[in-house]
Amino acid sequence: MTIETEVVVIGSGPGGYVAAIRAAQLGKKVAIIEKEYIGGVCLNVGCIPSKAMITAAHKYNDVKEYEQFGLNVPEITFDWDKVQAFRANAVEQLTDGVEYLLNGNNIEIVRGTARFEDEHTLSIESEEGQKTLKFEDCIIATGSRPRDIPPVRFSDRIVSSTEVLSFPERPDSLIVIGGGVIGIELATVYANFGTKVTVLEGQKSILPGTNRKLTNVVQRKLKEKGVEIVTNAMVNGSQETADGVTVTAEVKGKTEEYKADYVMLSIGRVVNTDDIGIEKAGVELDEYGLVKVDEQARTNKPHIYAIGDIIAGPQLAHKASYEAKIAAEAIAGMDSTIAYKCMPSVVYSEPEIAVTGVTSDEVKAKKLDAIQSSFQYAGNGRAIAMAETAGYVNLISDKATGKLIGCEIVGANASDLINELSLAIEKDLTVEDIAMTVHPHPTLGEIVMETAEIAADKPIHVVKK
Ligand code: FAD
Repeated sequence: MTIETEVVVIGSGPGGYVAAIRAAQLGKKVAIIEKEYIGGVCLNVGCIPSKAMITAAHKYNDVKEYEQFGLNVPEITFDWDKVQAFRANAVEQLTDGVEYLLNGNNIEIVRGTARFEDEHTLSIESEEGQKTLKFEDCIIATGSRPRDIPPVRFSDRIVSSTEVLSFPERPDSLIVIGGGVIGIELATVYANFGTKVTVLEGQKSILPGTNRKLTNVVQRKLKEKGVEIVTNAMVNGSQETADGVTVTAEVKGKTEEYKADYVMLSIGRVVNTDDIGIEKAGVELDEYGLVKVDEQARTNKPHIYAIGDIIAGPQLAHKASYEAKIAAEAIAGMDSTIAYKCMPSVVYSEPEIAVTGVTSDEVKAKKLDAIQSSFQYAGNGRAIAMAETAGYVNLISDKATGKLIGCEIVGANASDLINELSLAIEKDLTVEDIAMTVHPHPTLGEIVMETAEIAADKPIHVVKK
């Protein structure tokens, strides 16, 4: 059987499905090919299920702090099957929604694994047999998968975030190898549910690449929860037993041993460009296996585009979706280009970390002529009324113009507060603009305004020296 289409999208994650919808809106005949799950990693085993588990675990653990509000709560327990049902339901609602949107936009959904036969042909394998698809333009959005390494290979007890999200039972103990974003988010989930969690991180601090002052706030909280954090830990071996796993690591010149029911490996992800016959299409990859693209997400083949985790830049769902819209518009002949000034990123830790634009570490490394101003959550009325006083906002502005160029937040609801700042950076707003924008009282958003007031040298709730 041969399918003919104008645009084919390979992969239905936040890159692929957004690209398909935008191309269809622009009048193209579109097919989308998916080998596993509509919605990709993000909706099925990434962003959404992890945030559902984070919420459930946080609410469970939060009850311990209710006494401070004058609330007496009898001992709280959990029903693991129902926790898992909550996660699965969140996933289902969203994946059903994506399927509804694809159908509503008359996009043909083709189930199966796609591989290039040549630069205008794909073969699609599925349980039902093999199909051929001929296309004019193609958007590759095949995403990424978990990585393992020689001393710790995936097995029944050495697993990835995918299995950890849907453990049939809450484990008593868990070793997390890799204290990056995924590692720290899921370490927090299980620590909140009472699992004994050990994080082994090879670098000198957790969340490598994120400013130390920000990560220190999160690290303190993890330690309060009983999480053991071992940094500079180079894992060099693992041994699976009937009821658990033993991991060995070189820590400060000594070999240490760690035991747990399970190990989660979260040491990065492999891009899915190795088994799609990309060489048959003549599409070039770089030395990391990433697809090389221009500012319209176009590869060296002018009718083939690539977006999301398989191209350079942070592996984030919103980055994939942004690139998806550019690629679809480029196919439709529009002159849209990838031209963001900031790509926000969030760690859904406790408290959350959100960063956008230039970071304070970049200011230092590049010796930028910038002003940095900070305001603590502890000085904000809403934060006090919420008992969420840990954290701060740091605004980074250009000294000469006062334009906002970056922002770092660690604290409650940082993931929501960051949006105003990304808009400000994109639209060249100054700290004065933010300071003079009325922020409702009492809100955490006022912390942003207060920080901007400090940057503009007109603080009200800080005594001027
Ligand atoms: P994917 O979402 O990986 O989708 C690719 C799709 O292509 C998959 O469905 C796959 O089955 C399909 N596919 C692959 N090869 C083929 C083929 N040959 N034929 C047909 N189909 C194929 N990002 C955030 O921004 N915020 C978060 O909070 C966040 N949390 C995360 C939590 C976890 C636990 C994980 C693992 C990731 C998280 N991410 C988060 C990252 C985010 O999920 C990815 O950046 C995003 O999903 C990438 O989108 P994509 O469209 O490039 O690829």
